[in-house]
Amino acid sequence: MSTVAVYPGSFDPVTNGHLDIIERSAKVFDHVVVAVLHNRNKTPLFSVEERVQMLKEATKDMANIEIDAFHGLLIDYIRSREAGVIVRGLRAVSDFEYEMQAASINRKLDTNVETFFMMTNNQYSYLSSSIVKEVAKYNADVTDLVPQSVKAALQRKYGEAVDQKD
Ligand code: ADP
Repeated sequence: MSTVAVYPGSFDPVTNGHLDIIERSAKVFDHVVVAVLHNRNKTPLFSVEERVQMLKEATKDMANIEIDAFHGLLIDYIRSREAGVIVRGLRAVSDFEYEMQAASINRKLDTNVETFFMMTNNQYSYLSSSIVKEVAKYNADVTDLVPQSVKAALQRKYGEAVDQKD
């Protein structure tokens, strides 16, 4: 039986750290669905459609990867995709507490679903979507942090914001 894994997240926007997890999990599982969460509690910089588009562009040369979006409870989405695994990336101890809580509740909701943690590649341990947005906002260079299409999208976003202020 093939193993379908779901890698959920905000991906606002996707970074090279996320892409590293995507690439590595595609070697472990038969099919990886990268699922963008439509979270009404957060105000994202990019719309769900924009985030999906950037992920599609960044993963277009990778095999067995699919990009999707979902809202509501993760476990309901996992069941709808008939997936058996949730993939999450771990950067530092600070990620651990929340991730342990989320994995525990998901296991309580469905004992057939396993959460699989992948340690970040050391070179990306400092990298987050929030840091990327902060750096881009002040026009600093994000070349080594995100794929080219995301860099261009950030420039457009913050360019727009500057234009609107004028
Ligand atoms: P969320 O809002 O669900 O935390 P994110 O888009 O911030 O969404 O992160 C999605 C997943 O990717 C999480 O498991 C997070 O820990 C992981 N992640 C984020 N940045 C990195 C990175 N630089 N290296 C490895 N994993 C990462």
